[in-house]
Formats: sequence, C-alpha cells, structure tokens
Amino acid sequence: MLKPWLKESFNDFTQACLQGRLPGSVIIAGRPECGVMELALECARFYLCANKSPAGACGQCEGCRTFAAGANPDFLMVRSSTKDEEDAGQDVVTNPALAMHDNDGFFTASDTAVLRRSVRIGSTRRLIEWINLSHTLGQGKAAVINDAHTMPEGAANSILKTFEEPPSQTLIIVTAKSLDALLPTIRSRAYKIVLKDPKPEIASAYLAQKGYQGPQAAVALALAAQAPLGAEVILEQGLDVKALEIVSLLSQTVKGGADAALIDALSSLPAQGQVLVLGELVRELLKYKAGFKLEALPLLNEQSAQALVRLPADHLFSALQDLQHFAVRAPFIPPRAPLALLRAWGQALTQGSNR
Ligand SMILES: [Zn+2]
Repeated sequence: MLKPWLKESFNDFTQACLQGRLPGSVIIAGRPECGVMELALECARFYLCANKSPAGACGQCEGCRTFAAGANPDFLMVRSSTKDEEDAGQDVVTNPALAMHDNDGFFTASDTAVLRRSVRIGSTRRLIEWINLSHTLGQGKAAVINDAHTMPEGAANSILKTFEEPPSQTLIIVTAKSLDALLPTIRSRAYKIVLKDPKPEIASAYLAQKGYQGPQAAVALALAAQAPLGAEVILEQGLDVKALEIVSLLSQTVKGGADAALIDALSSLPAQGQVLVLGELVRELLKYKAGFKLEALPLLNEQSAQALVRLPADHLFSALQDLQHFAVRAPFIPPRAPLALLRAWGQALTQGSNR
C-alpha cells in the first residue's frame, strides 16, 4: 500500500503515463524520510505492469509478480554507494526490497558510510549498458537512480545523453533531494514530481496507525523535522526515549557541567542522533523564550524548561550554528564536540546565577 501522502503525486504520474504524456525520464524530488524512494519504485512497478489502470499496477501480471520477487529482468536500480559497496555489487540491484532499506539508518546509524555514498561512475556505466539491451517482458524497461544529487560530474556527464534521449519504451526515474541539486540539462526534459512534506495531521495519523501516539509521536516528529518515515525510524530505534532522558539529565546537571550519566546517555547515540537531539532542544528553548506554550514543544516539560530557559539567547544561537555545522559533517564530528557545547552552557548558567 502506497503511503497516503504519496497518492496524489502517484495519480498524476499514472495519468500522464496512461495518456501517453510521459517523456523518457522522471525526476522525483523531496526528502527521503518522506518516501521519495517508495514513490519512485511504485512508478517503476506501474510502468512495467501489463494491465495498467487508473487504480495502479495490477499486482497479478508477470511484470508485477517478478517485480515483487525482486527478479523483474526489465527493472534496474542504481543506489548511491561507497567504493566497498560497489565492489560487492550492491550499487546496481534488481530487488526493490533492498532499496527500501536504504534510508533506515539515516538518523541512528553509527555507520560512517552514510555520508560517503554517492552514485558512482561505474554504476552509471553498468546502467547504460543495461538500458541498451532489449526488454524481455514486453512492457519496456524502467530504471531508478536513487540520490542522483550525489552524482559527481563524471557520472552525471556519462548519463546525460541517455537521460535526455532514452531508447524508446524506456523510463529512467531519478530521485534527488531537490530539483536544484541536479544539472539543468537533466532537469529540462524530465517529468517532474516535487514531493511536499505531508501535513502534520497526516503524519500523526500515519504514526498512530503504527501504534505511536501522543507525546511519543510528537517527540519523534519534532526530531525528524515532521517527516513521517523518519519519525518511524526514530521510534523503532528508541531515539525519542533517549532524547527525553538526555533533556531531563541536562536540566538536572547542566549548572555544574555535564555529569557522568549525561555523558553516557549522549555518547550512546551516534553523531547524527546527538546533533538531532541537541538541535531540536535549542530550537525549542528559543521558541519557549519567544513565548511558545509547552504543549507545542515536545522535548521540554515544566521542570526542564525552567532549568534551561536561563541559558542566554546568544549562547543558544551560537549553539545552533555549531550544531548545523556538525550536521553537515556528521558522522565525522569530533566525539567530544557536543560535550564541549554542554560545558559552555554550564558555564553560562553558573555565571548567570552569580551575577
Ligand atoms: Zn501488473
């Protein structure tokens, strides 16, 4: 079942396809944590279905069955990968189920591969070779390139001609974090889908359906910047509980500098998790200072807000800058960097109370 907030974009795509308005290439732009990959795979499945209808792919034909089994000979997916993953053949796959897990570790993985992945030139070469073979099941061929914004210039140039003029009965779908992140030549001829973030009530309803409600869901959505699939990963990994624990420990101990329990709790999170939790906390403290009610600030409660609101705004703004800087480099941030931040807060609070 396609996620509810993806349906409108998918319907637009199926109509364009059924009415013969689809060019040979499609760009799907948006946040991975909102389901870009799922939409790309559903579009590919539809394209390869022998019984397409406005309701979607049939699920019964050979194309649909082989697609579900990860063995449709007319489907190929290029994933962003590290050199090691490319050497292991994990960069070009036929099984869509493998691709669905690509973003699972985004918030919580200590895996340093996350930021070193890119669409590699060897992968695009294999894709081009595959595209030039003839199709097998009679519905044409569909390829997906995931994270196309990570393509280095060489890889982008190698795919350009194929992308501008794919062979007939061939659909190339690329996903990217935004349209601007792709070369204008890639953008110009493609059918474009810009996936907007789902409305808060739709994101909450999705999490409720998964069994997550109330404050727990609110914390996860805040940490995931309102992306429902991101929030789901956070809940599955228990990062929401950790985050509340960290805020509680921080409010008890920040005045005397970070104590052992707080250091343990923070260090138990991977770098991305530390940056997410502290970043959201700083944003909520700034909002609290600006008069927001506690109900709108899921990480804070009465006690922690009282304890931490005395942090001067200029400290919070510079912390936010530091954290944004870390976020770009995570997971390569120095392991003690968030702790140094907390020590500075402790000093600021101690000085504040002496004045
Ligand atoms: Zn079918």
